[in-house]
Amino acid sequence: MPTDLDYLAPTTVDEAIALKAMPGTAWLLGGTDLLPQMRAGRKAPERLVDLKRIPGLHEIRESADGGLSIGAAVPLADVETHPGVLDRFPLLAECAKTVGAWPLRQRATLAGNLCNASPAADTAVALLALDAEVKVASTAGRRSIPIREFFLGPGLAALSPGDLVTEIVLPAASAGFRGSYLRLSRRKGMDLATVGVLVGKSNGTLPARWRVALAAVAPTPLRLRAVEELLEAKGAAAAGEAAEAARVACRPITDLRGSAEYRREMVGVLVRRGVESLG
Ligand SMILES: Cc1cc2nc3c(=O)[nH]c(=O)nc-3n(C[C@H](O)[C@H](O)[C@H](O)COP(=O)(O)OP(=O)(O)OC[C@H]3O[C@@H](n4cnc5c(N)ncnc54)[C@H](O)[C@@H]3O)c2cc1C
Repeated sequence: MPTDLDYLAPTTVDEAIALKAMPGTAWLLGGTDLLPQMRAGRKAPERLVDLKRIPGLHEIRESADGGLSIGAAVPLADVETHPGVLDRFPLLAECAKTVGAWPLRQRATLAGNLCNASPAADTAVALLALDAEVKVASTAGRRSIPIREFFLGPGLAALSPGDLVTEIVLPAASAGFRGSYLRLSRRKGMDLATVGVLVGKSNGTLPARWRVALAAVAPTPLRLRAVEELLEAKGAAAAGEAAEAARVACRPITDLRGSAEYRREMVGVLVRRGVESLG
C-alpha cells in the first residue's frame, strides 16, 4: 500500500472536478473497492479525492412525481433502510442488503458499487431492472446516462476519467416492482455472488409488468428483456420457458467461484423459482 499518497477532501462538486484534472487522481467514496485494489497493486493512484465531504452527495431526495434520487456518497446501509426505497423500490433494498455485511454497507456506497462495474455487483441488477439514470458532472457540464448504457465490460463503465457520478435516479415509472433477488455464493457470510437472479413484477397497469436481471453470469450485469416479454405474453405459467431462455441468454465464465456450466444451470433454476414465487 503506497504511503506517500496525497489526500484531498473538497466540499463542492466543482472543486472536486477541478482537482481530478491532475494526472494520477482517483475519486474515493467508501474505499471498499478502491483500497483493496490498491493493496493488491491493481490500481496505483498518486492522489485520492475524497467525495464524502460534499454535502449535496449525501442526500436521498424524493421527487414530486414519486421518483427518488440517491446521492453518490449515500452508504448502502442508508439505501436499504430508507422508507422511500422500501416502500416504492424494494427490489433495490433486496439487492443492497446482500452486499457484504452490515458494517461494510455503512461505508460502501451505491455509486461505488456501480462505478466499480463488476459483473457481480449486486445493486447493478436492481438499477438495471428499475431503469435508473446515472447523473454525471464533469468540466464539460452535466449529463445523464441511462443504466442500460452504463456497463461496458468487466471493470469498465461508460465514464471518462473526469466524470464524477453525482447521483442515481430511480424513475417514478419503476415504482411498485416487487420480487426477489436470489443469490448463490460459495459460503454464507461475505462473498461475491456466484450467480444472482432478480425477478420482479409490478401489479400496476404498466405495459411492462415483469423485470428480470442477472449478476455474475456475463461480462456485465444483464437485463433480459426477451425473457420479460415472454412473461408479459404468457405469465408465470411460462416459468419453465423463461428459465430456459435465461439459461441460453447468459454468458458465464468459469472462475474460482464456479464453473460456467454450474452458473448456467443455476440461472435456469433461480429464474424458474423467482417467476413461480410471483405467479
Ligand atoms: C469484504 C468485502 C465484501 C464485499 N462484498 C460485496 C458483495 O457481496 N457484493 C458486491 O456487489 N460488492 C461487494 N464488495 C465490493 C464493494 O463493497 C462495493 O462495490 C461497494 O459498493 C463500493 O463502494 P465504495 O463506496 O466503497 O466505492 P470506492 O471503493 O470508494 O470506489 C469504487 C470505484 O468507483 C470510483 N468512484 C468512486 N466515486 C466515484 C464517482 N462519484 N464517480 C465516478 N467514479 C467513482 C473509485 O475511484 C473506484 O474506482 C465487497 C467488498 C469487500 C471489501
